[in-house]
Amino acid sequence: MPNVSDTKPIGSGVPPRRSDQIWSDAHLPEDVKSAARLARSFAEQHLAPIAYELNTTPEHRDNFPHEVFSAMRDAGLFAIPFSRDVGGLGLEHPTLALLVVLEELAYYSPGIASALYDAQIILVGQTLARAEPPIRKQWLPRIVRGEIVASFATSEPDASTDLSARSMQTIATRVNGGWQIDGRKRWITNAVAADIILVLARIPDEEQIFLLVETARGGVTIGDPDIKMGNHPQLTSDIVFENCFVPDSNVIGEPGSGLRSALSALMLGRIGIGAVGVGMAQAAFDFACDHMTRRTVFGKELARFQHWQFTFADHAIGIEQARSLYQKAGDIFDADGNAEIEAAMAKITGSSLAVDVARDAIQVCGASGFVRSIGATGEQRALESIYRDAKIGEIYEGANEIQKWIIARRIFGRNLTG
Ligand SMILES: Cc1cc2nc3c(=O)[nH]c(=O)nc-3n(C[C@H](O)[C@H](O)[C@H](O)COP(=O)(O)OP(=O)(O)OC[C@H]3O[C@@H](n4cnc5c(N)ncnc54)[C@H](O)[C@@H]3O)c2cc1C
Repeated sequence: MPNVSDTKPIGSGVPPRRSDQIWSDAHLPEDVKSAARLARSFAEQHLAPIAYELNTTPEHRDNFPHEVFSAMRDAGLFAIPFSRDVGGLGLEHPTLALLVVLEELAYYSPGIASALYDAQIILVGQTLARAEPPIRKQWLPRIVRGEIVASFATSEPDASTDLSARSMQTIATRVNGGWQIDGRKRWITNAVAADIILVLARIPDEEQIFLLVETARGGVTIGDPDIKMGNHPQLTSDIVFENCFVPDSNVIGEPGSGLRSALSALMLGRIGIGAVGVGMAQAAFDFACDHMTRRTVFGKELARFQHWQFTFADHAIGIEQARSLYQKAGDIFDADGNAEIEAAMAKITGSSLAVDVARDAIQVCGASGFVRSIGATGEQRALESIYRDAKIGEIYEGANEIQKWIIARRIFGRNLTG
């Protein structure tokens, strides 16, 4: 992995932010604007110079982005959504603030945004923030201070969209003083570097339990990272638990309420995936618009062709809608602690928009959009990685079909939709 403090800007340069011309943040509260400014300044300084390497270097066990993690910690990004008693900033709009941070990080590296903020700070951090006082007090300050890396493990080889107890093969058995876990989790973000893992497991009577596993206690084997189509800096691996002991003090919630705790964190994570999608869509949009004003075909700039003007006017509307949706969802979550429908809508809208804008951005840039780097000159291009990175947003943290099911349930009721 490149050294954060020892890198040069990517060859193709970073295009001007079109969002600053066509989008107003006047409606955002001051604490949220200030979080966005902090995140943008961090991302421009620490992510932009190494974005190309981060987003194109294949997964490897040694490639966990420790230096980016430390830089995020030092910039104070991990403190943004948490209350003062655990070392956080105690903002008035913590969820909205963490979402705008995600968008800014994803503008340069969706893999970093997803691994080091969505998984670490939303899925794990927000679960711990709602956990019983002793667990919260023991572990959350360490997350806020960036002392530990964490994973959130629900998926298994045969259970991921369907997380019901009957599908789940990871078993927690009652033993003296705690629980013993046996089983295998799959696709687990940050596992190669994890100090703690929140694990959803099955207990008797088709119930589930959510446990905090300390990897240093043993009984945990982490596989090599999966080689993926995109999101390369987001390392995912299998985790095998064998006779893995978890003390009673590390049970999150009541035994039996495990799935509820996991789903509540995932709801917030979904809004996050919507925000990550907006960051990617904005980046692809900016690269394409910049290219369209410079590249001439048939004697005129691509931006003079009405087809492309209208295509990107439509995408500007799409970005406005997706950004408004994730921000509304965050606002509602801050007010009510629940935003199920808005989260589902924000996730679908942001994630599919990213795929659509990246596809059109590559189309209008032609070969310049399709290549990763130009052999003769070494110029680097970012669009192909955005296209590869965008796809997973439609799949993980609840596939978009599941989000439509959630919305349909509210429209037609569970009797009809199941
Ligand atoms: C980069 C990455 C990071 C990840 N990080 C984590 C992590 O940190 N922790 C973790 O626990 N998991 C993680 N996952 C797993 C991820 O959450 C799952 O991939 C996701 O839940 C989908 O499960 P699956 O891939 O097994 O697809 P399946 O469950 O096999 O579903 C496949 C497809 O079936 C369709 N489908 C499913 N149900 C329905 C339905 N009811 N109606 C219509 N269509 C349906 C959807 O299109 C879905 O995409 C990660 C995955 C990736 C790729």
